Amino acid sequence: MGGAPKDERMEELNLKELNRTNPIIKVAIEFGIKVQGSVAKCFKEDRHSSKDDKPTLFFNPAKNTFLCTECPDVGGTVIDLVCQYNGWDREKAVKWLEHRAEFDAFTAGLYHGKGVKRRKLRDDTAQE
Ligand SMILES: [Zn+2]
Repeated sequence: MGGAPKDERMEELNLKELNRTNPIIKVAIEFGIKVQGSVAKCFKEDRHSSKDDKPTLFFNPAKNTFLCTECPDVGGTVIDLVCQYNGWDREKAVKWLEHRAEFDAFTAGLYHGKGVKRRKLRDDTAQE
């Protein structure tokens, strides 16, 4: 896996873009994690030693990171969240997030572009 420095820079750029387009709390909610404010119950709660019902999963929207105060191996970036929640490797998680971002942009475009789309449709019919 010895990538050239240029590739590493590329990857860094991609990670920035992934963080920008995939807000961690939004991704967590999409997974079905019930986030309240910026805390939630850990998705590996069954492994916790303490069985009280307190939320132990903390999200940091500014840094786009999270951590569980009970699980030493739960926490990290939005990519780590996707990996740990689904049991995927990093490559699969990055691909998934890239796809998710594209889809998000697409649906956002549908909402914001509604008026524009309608106008365009009218223009099209006028030409016929
Ligand atoms: Zn945990």
